[in-house]
Amino acid sequence: MSARRRHLGAFRWEATPLAAYKAEGTHFRDVTRQVLFAADAGVGCELRYFEIAPGGHTTLERHQHAHAVVVARGSGRALVGEEIVELARLDLVSVPPRTWHQLRAGQAEPLGFLCLVACERDRPERPDADDLARLRAKHAIAEFIRV
Ligand code: MN
Repeated sequence: MSARRRHLGAFRWEATPLAAYKAEGTHFRDVTRQVLFAADAGVGCELRYFEIAPGGHTTLERHQHAHAVVVARGSGRALVGEEIVELARLDLVSVPPRTWHQLRAGQAEPLGFLCLVACERDRPERPDADDLARLRAKHAIAEFIRV
C-alpha cells in the first residue's frame, strides 16, 4: 500500500472503509466510524474519524483509557465529566481516564471529529442506575445526556 491514502472529499479516505460506530446497541444514534490509522501503523495508538449526523449522539460511557479529540467539521456539544462544552471546528477536547463522556451533533449539520486512542485499551462501561442518578443530579447534565 502507498504511504499516502488520499482524502476523497467529504471526510472519506482511500482504502478506509466506512463502518458503523459500534457493532451493536441502541444507546447511540447516527454515528459512523473510519479507522484512519490502526495498530499496524506502529504508533501505539489509533486515529479514528467519527461523524455524528444532525441530532445524533455517541454512547454515554467511561473507561480507563483517555481520548484526545479534534473537531473536524460541524458543531455540537460534549459532556466531559461534569462539564458540557460547545464544540466548533478545530476545537480540542481531552477526555481523561474514568470520565463520563458523550458527544452530540447539533440539529443543523453533522459533527465530525478525529479521536486518538491507545491501541491497548479497556472496554467502555455504560452507566448503571446509580451512575445515572448521580449524573442527573445536575440539571444541565440531566437535560443533555441521551441513554
Ligand atoms: Mn469513549
